[in-house]
Amino acid sequence: VRVTTPMVVSCNEPRREVSVNQITTHKQIDRTFMFDKVFGPTSQQKDLYDQVVSPIITEALEGYTWTIFAYGQTGTGKTYTMEGEGRKEKVILRCRPLIEDEVRVTTPMVVSCNEPRREVSVNQITTHKQIDRTFMFDKVFGPTSQQKDLYDQVVSPIITEALEGYTWTIFAYGQTGTGKTYTMEGEGRKEKNGEFHKDAGVIPRAVQQIFDILVAQNAEYSMKVTFLELYNEEITDLLAPDDNSKFCDDKSKKPIALMDDGKGTVFVRGLEEEIVCTADEIYKILEKGSAKKHTAETLLNKQSNRSHSIFSITVQIKECTAEGVELIKCGKLNLVDLAGSENILRSGGREGRAREAGEINKSLLTLGRVINALVEHSGHVPYRDSKLTRLLRDSLGGKTKTCIIATVSPSVHCLEETLGTLDYAFRAKSIQNRPEVNQ
Ligand code: ADP
Ligand code: MG
Repeated sequence: VRVTTPMVVSCNEPRREVSVNQITTHKQIDRTFMFDKVFGPTSQQKDLYDQVVSPIITEALEGYTWTIFAYGQTGTGKTYTMEGEGRKEKVILRCRPLIEDEVRVTTPMVVSCNEPRREVSVNQITTHKQIDRTFMFDKVFGPTSQQKDLYDQVVSPIITEALEGYTWTIFAYGQTGTGKTYTMEGEGRKEKNGEFHKDAGVIPRAVQQIFDILVAQNAEYSMKVTFLELYNEEITDLLAPDDNSKFCDDKSKKPIALMDDGKGTVFVRGLEEEIVCTADEIYKILEKGSAKKHTAETLLNKQSNRSHSIFSITVQIKECTAEGVELIKCGKLNLVDLAGSENILRSGGREGRAREAGEINKSLLTLGRVINALVEHSGHVPYRDSKLTRLLRDSLGGKTKTCIIATVSPSVHCLEETLGTLDYAFRAKSIQNRPEVNQ
């Protein structure tokens, strides 16, 4: 498209005809072929599937053997047709170990993980109830798994893809206290020997890997990060400069608003974008952001488990093709630490918390509904119903990729919430990547 390549094939789908035309002074090509079906450049994977493959599947299940071949020149879409870039999401389950206090009082564990089989089971058999459910995920990390395991197996390939020009969003979803922040941010940064502390989470490791790749490629790049918090449907910029004014004073806050550019892209007006050149700069930014989170928590008397935090890294890499054409590849990574999922079930409408709980419900429920709408291919995807989903609209369905890391506790006391998280995550597992639904 960029170099305006002329097209010589035209498809007439209703007439099931394909024509190849080229008329120059030297040659004159004008040929038409007819097929059982013709799918032109605007046809979708689903069209071909529904019209061609679906009836074949029905027959195959009636006892026939069918073979489907993809035939054509390299680069014309054989693999795209057969495999596609289909499931662009991963759902990972992580179960933390019992923490010290739980061990001290010998809390029974009701969750068991089978990592090779990618299965998680919840079992509780008492005289009153009998719970025995098993869920399967794309990957399962049990209580003895380390930060590095999850990073190497799940996040590292995502970073590589993001730097090839994709947008990836990683969500941490789960009940408060199950390890969302531990997974995303972790505890402890770099050791003196340059290795990561064993508790360092996804964000610092991702930052390091991005710089390592860019340096190894000797790439010309620019990188920007933003860090924001969504609390009560209000956005707080965690990177806004400190103007010594009290954070709790509404008037002193920068006017931050979610805007629509009219073409479906949502952006945050007034959001601080920091340009970074080294990994150390990002660590400083992260610390600044986390400190601000904590100040805001104390001043506003809010709890971090009630807000969503979104750390985004955008990288633009300049590339030269073999023909010497300059290209800018843009990769983006959103790392989202969601509000505690227990808020989804409880209204907690006491002492002015009513609105707050309502808003958290709205964001998490809408995220769930958006996921369900995508799963069910329903015509209306309610992105607009919450700020969280508006903000992340580009990252749900559409052309970008999503990874949900669902976190659970093994404790018997969390059983109900654990089942809730497993159901939510299991359902999310079947979001299909599909063209944006117009609305
Ligand atoms: P959340 O952000 O979901 O509310 P946290 O990340 O704050 O939960 O984790 C709660 C506690 O559990 C913290 O003390 C954390 O260190 C510990 N923890 C969480 N996940 C793990 C894990 N996989 N391994 C060891 N400790 C963990
Ligand atoms: Mg947390």
